[in-house]
Amino acid sequence: MTPITIRDVRTILTAPAGIRLIVVKIETSEPGLTGVGCATFTQRHHAVAAAIERHLRPLLLGRDVSRIEDLWQMMMVNAYWRNGPVLNNAVSGVDMALWDIAGKRAGMPLYALFGGRCREAAALYRHADGASPAEVGDQVLQLVEQGFHYVRCQMGGYGGRGHRLHTPAGAQPGAYYDPYRYARSVPPMLEHVRSLVGFDVELLHDIHERLPPPLAIQLARAVEPYQLFFLEDPLAPEQISWFQALRQQTSTPIAMGELWVNPTEWLPLVTAGLIDFTRAHISAIGGITPARKMAAVCELCSVRTAWHGPGDVSPVGHAANLHLDLSAPNFGVQECYPFPDELREVFPGCPEIRDGFMIPNDQPGLGIDVDERLAARFPCVDTIDEWTQARWPDGSQARP
Ligand code: MG
Repeated sequence: MTPITIRDVRTILTAPAGIRLIVVKIETSEPGLTGVGCATFTQRHHAVAAAIERHLRPLLLGRDVSRIEDLWQMMMVNAYWRNGPVLNNAVSGVDMALWDIAGKRAGMPLYALFGGRCREAAALYRHADGASPAEVGDQVLQLVEQGFHYVRCQMGGYGGRGHRLHTPAGAQPGAYYDPYRYARSVPPMLEHVRSLVGFDVELLHDIHERLPPPLAIQLARAVEPYQLFFLEDPLAPEQISWFQALRQQTSTPIAMGELWVNPTEWLPLVTAGLIDFTRAHISAIGGITPARKMAAVCELCSVRTAWHGPGDVSPVGHAANLHLDLSAPNFGVQECYPFPDELREVFPGCPEIRDGFMIPNDQPGLGIDVDERLAARFPCVDTIDEWTQARWPDGSQARP
């Protein structure tokens, strides 16, 4: 049998919702057979596009599309240096597109190719945020009314806002926040939300690595009475040595990992039972191929999946999340991004959100495509991000 080969690899940059997205499209030697993949690293989109077009494309042209694992291994080591967010996202775009092609050739949705459904739909969590406990509580009630059973509660965004800051004269510009006031503001906010919804709704909170480790441990203990579904990113990947202390001191379930780019960051945490949910951003770890392996290791270690799913995952990436959610026995919950109409139009086949669940469309492969003509109407705009220029009150740079 003559193999079907890669005829072209193209990157599509588009921002239908104002967020820069990078999507890869692979054309094959079979007329009409194409695949799409998510390579979105929104803050470094040009670097990812160059990695795909200048480095991966020449490596891939003419290769057999069915050799997904072998091509993944080759893409990962071909530069000798490996495991960084730019390269991993570039590899992911190709990897997902090859899986999409494999599903289309088999005539099966990817979840069926991965072993079949373990559930009919993926339970979603939405974000509630407000300037006060009352505002957060109102939003939670609205989301519950819309059918969401899981709600992440933040007040004033990551690290909180509106605290009175004691800052020296001449402090550098930046997105300032006070980690101590932020940490103290969370338990009363959760107490208010629980007073409204009781314990029939699952609540989540994201620290976003914004606290010094001892303060993160204090907060994880302080929120125990509110029985979170999980507390997310209490520490940074660089603070791996603190997880044991965190685990020993609190029963609050821990979710971790949207910034992971290297297996050495998550393997020790998962295999030692120090976290409860993996939050990996699938394109940032290199696509569906490594995500399936991560999910399998997590299953054996009683860790559940909660793949990263904000607006800077393209709808193609959300579709990949969904196929993994449906087919993994150890799925926990899926972060929900309510797709605006423009995104749904640019990405036909975008997964449906109904009554708090994400539902697949059962088309072969990922079940989603990109309308390139429409995508071109939403060009990416280069900006310097401000929210990532986080600073503590004394003026020092902090992790965003
Ligand atoms: Mg997060």
